[in-house]
Amino acid sequence: MEKLYRDLKVVFKGDITTDSHDRQSYSHDASIYQMRPDAILYPKTSLDIQNLVRFASKHKHIYPGLSLTARGAGTDMSGGAINSSFILDMTRYFGNVHSLSETQLHVQPGAYMRDIDPMLHEKGVMLGSVPASRDLCTVGGMVANNSGGEQSLRYGNTENFVQSLKVIFADGNEYTVEPLTKRQLDAKMRQNNFEGNLYRRIFTLIDENYELLHTARPKTNKNSMGYGLWSVWNKEEGIFDLTKLITGSQGTLGIVTDITFKVIPKAKHTGLMMVYLPDVKQLATVIQTVMRHKPSTFEGFDDITFELGIKYFKIFQKQLGTKEWLKQQLSLTTSVAKFKGHLPNIVLMVEFEGNTPVEIQTKIAELQYDLRRFKLRMEVAGDEQASAKFWKIRRASFTLLRQRVHDKYASPFIDDLAVQPQYLPEFLPELRKIIRKYDLPATIAGHFGDGNFHIIPLMNIKSSIDQAKLEPTMRDIVPLVLKYHGTLAGEHNDGMVRGPWLPAVFGDEVYQLFRQTKEIFDPLYIFNPHKKTDASWDFSMKHIRTSNR
Ligand SMILES: Cc1cc2nc3c(=O)[nH]c(=O)nc-3n(C[C@H](O)[C@H](O)[C@H](O)COP(=O)(O)OP(=O)(O)OC[C@H]3O[C@@H](n4cnc5c(N)ncnc54)[C@H](O)[C@@H]3O)c2cc1C
Repeated sequence: MEKLYRDLKVVFKGDITTDSHDRQSYSHDASIYQMRPDAILYPKTSLDIQNLVRFASKHKHIYPGLSLTARGAGTDMSGGAINSSFILDMTRYFGNVHSLSETQLHVQPGAYMRDIDPMLHEKGVMLGSVPASRDLCTVGGMVANNSGGEQSLRYGNTENFVQSLKVIFADGNEYTVEPLTKRQLDAKMRQNNFEGNLYRRIFTLIDENYELLHTARPKTNKNSMGYGLWSVWNKEEGIFDLTKLITGSQGTLGIVTDITFKVIPKAKHTGLMMVYLPDVKQLATVIQTVMRHKPSTFEGFDDITFELGIKYFKIFQKQLGTKEWLKQQLSLTTSVAKFKGHLPNIVLMVEFEGNTPVEIQTKIAELQYDLRRFKLRMEVAGDEQASAKFWKIRRASFTLLRQRVHDKYASPFIDDLAVQPQYLPEFLPELRKIIRKYDLPATIAGHFGDGNFHIIPLMNIKSSIDQAKLEPTMRDIVPLVLKYHGTLAGEHNDGMVRGPWLPAVFGDEVYQLFRQTKEIFDPLYIFNPHKKTDASWDFSMKHIRTSNR
């Protein structure tokens, strides 16, 4: 190994650490897994990564375990951001925001969303797919996971905002990836080099299996499972867009070094209505009623999350500033006092956008009228300031579970199911039955309008009794999700947790197309092994975390 590092330092000019403490701190992301890397590398330039990829190819036959896993903030919930070989931390030197206009954001992948958000706000624009982890995550992670968020109900996942990417592929060269006309594609395919070969093989794979791929696409508003082959070739418009494949590929096809996003105007006015459900059984029908009113966002969280949010609202003091925090805290206390100790089972957040405050008020009034038959408590938070406290709790729902429930580990493994909302009245009771069957004390939050539920069981993840529940639960969940044409991952991707279930969800024929895709891009399995098509349940189970903290 010493020789390997000596040779590495000749070609790699960024920082390298093999310090035991550093390796330990990179051995986790937000998933239920752990893997200790050999080294953490901080590339300074694209050339560093290009050299590194060539280096990995050259040495792979001597060190078969050698691999490269890009990492942003490490908030991945599927095990996507951990590995045993080299981790490339993109946050130290790849965090520049190059430019922002009314229509476009040009940025490096290691930039934190929390640093970009104020710039977008100032320009009056937004990225419509920012996840609830917006205070933590990077844009590179969002692209690699095809992340979604509260606005995805209207605008879809990150794939809809990526205009072009720079990606370093397995030959060690950096390529621009962007939508191509058929003529441009033909020119690429005529090239007698790695890129030409890649375009030829991927185009043939997609074109020959066009119907099969379109049938296989989950029939949900959002999906981040599998490789998005079905979105690459738009035959009708004659556009071939490889960004649709790289987005959501979790760093298994190459390393993203540069991103151009489309940004869109932010709504002039918004208004939020809170709907409090005393019984989760009403959830499905209430969701359907709300959806008829076409809200711009429709989120929710359960009583456990709400209680933690109230109890630990102090954690938002730094983000909000003391003055604003005190105001929000007071307003939250006033809202909560009305429950007289009986918190609602589910809190729904329904937001409308409009050009005038009157337009918003009308939309809210219409919804209130329609919901009156359910006899629910409702509360209107007329503007962004009034709704801030609820957004803080919703966006921090997972963090609250992780940081404040000490004896159990918030375990994301059935955490991202999505079905079309029309199926919810049948789907949700069947889902609850499975959760009860395996005695999983699960919390629920998520993007209810998309039918995308974050169900997070609180488990003693290091105990073999709780670990033994994982596989049978998945075996019951997969057919349920398939019955309602859904997906196991609306936005959290496959990683180690869902990768092993790709054949069960998509069928062997489509799974083989995914595998071929991986091998066309990465024949030596240099990029992020053990994830997506390269995942195996046994391997994943051997890497379950050994602590609840
Ligand atoms: C509290 C909390 C709330 C969350 N809420 C949401 C939510 O609402 N919606 C949602 O979609 N997700 C959510 N997530 C999951 C996660 O935050 C998102 O997927 C986020 O976009 C990941 O960003 P990151 O910077 O942490 O990426 P990381 O975790 O570092 O990496 C994610 C994946 O991207 C790959 N990657 C990173 N950078 C690159 C690169 N430059 N090139 C190639 N591959 C790369 C990594 O290898 C890994 O596979 C949440 C997570 C937490 C902890």
